[in-house]
Amino acid sequence: MKINQNYLNVKKSYLFTEIGNRVKKFQSDNPDADVIKLGIGDVTLPLAPVVVDALKKAADEMGEKQGFRGYGPEQGYDFLREAVRDYYLKRNICLEANEIFISDGAKSDLGNILDLFSECNTVLVPDPVYPVYVDTNIMAGRKVIFADGTEENGFLPMPDENIKCDIIYICSPNNPTGAVYSREELKKWVDYANSMDAVILFDAAYEAFVTDEALPRSIYEIEGAKNCAIEFSSLSKTAGFTGTRCGYTIVPHALIREGQTLNPFWLRRQTTKFNGVSYIIQRGAEAVFTEAGQRQIKTSLDYYRENAKTITEGLDKLGKKYVGGKHSPYIWMRCDMPSWEYFDLLLNKANVVGTPGAGFGRNGEGWFRLTAFGDADATKEAVKRIIALG
Ligand code: PLP
Repeated sequence: MKINQNYLNVKKSYLFTEIGNRVKKFQSDNPDADVIKLGIGDVTLPLAPVVVDALKKAADEMGEKQGFRGYGPEQGYDFLREAVRDYYLKRNICLEANEIFISDGAKSDLGNILDLFSECNTVLVPDPVYPVYVDTNIMAGRKVIFADGTEENGFLPMPDENIKCDIIYICSPNNPTGAVYSREELKKWVDYANSMDAVILFDAAYEAFVTDEALPRSIYEIEGAKNCAIEFSSLSKTAGFTGTRCGYTIVPHALIREGQTLNPFWLRRQTTKFNGVSYIIQRGAEAVFTEAGQRQIKTSLDYYRENAKTITEGLDKLGKKYVGGKHSPYIWMRCDMPSWEYFDLLLNKANVVGTPGAGFGRNGEGWFRLTAFGDADATKEAVKRIIALG
């Protein structure tokens, strides 16, 4: 037998495992230190009450003969697909319910979607970015090239006509930089992808953080996007579902490559390799899209936005350069030294944990990610300590 040798080409340790190891060691060496974690992008507020009620109700149904459900449709129950469709319709994006596939989160689908594409494709990934895009393609043996996000372009790389590629990842609002593409900028990516028959994999996991109507929250706000883009979204950061697990992926019927419509390909893939998200969780997810659900998640989103403001105001006082924080839970600050060095300095001297930019790609070196997902008082305290450190 032969193993998948490509696994030897991915970096040994996943970024957050390395952070976890360093923090664990520090805490065991300094058991009394009050460590504040603004590192991993996990949420801290509980699920909205309306979601919890829906989960409980669905659990009760499952305990009764009348309400019990076994295997559900792999692509999601109609009630949730319709709820997602209405969510898009409110923003004037018309989707058909069968273009929406319910998932157990964006991460799995971002990796799984690659089943649809040949290993010979060249993949264009922005740098810095969420490490999953690179690793999943390396595991499959695809060639990965990078679009440089730098201070000069505001960490929003634009297409280069001289570079040919087949699969393009775009993450907006971006993890880790918090930068958000404008409609005009996304239009350039859509035109570029259509001009060379490439497919855009658009990660909208942080769309709910965008408050400015002038900024796009979905790639389908852009003309021509249905011909070239698949969109991934998630309730993880929008509604605190990181542990509950539910998301959705949109594969438009208009997306055709090599004469084949990709929507039935994805349906075939999902019905073969995936058995759907649990009924209970889908009922909880449905509640997110109700009026009460939207109101309640807004309270949590506003709480995180306030944390982002606390961080950016602190960095303003310090005179530190940063991007993000306005339409994103991430603040990407210049640390003016190797980012793992700054990580250790911050941990040892301020007992604050952040994420070194180098973990997100070559262009992340010298930068550092702080998240707004923490407790408000802890965030204020962390900012005080960062300011004291200078
Ligand atoms: N996409 C981006 C850009 C993320 O930052 C994350 C999680 O941090 C995900 C996707 C994964 O989301 P999910 O929890 O839905 O798998």
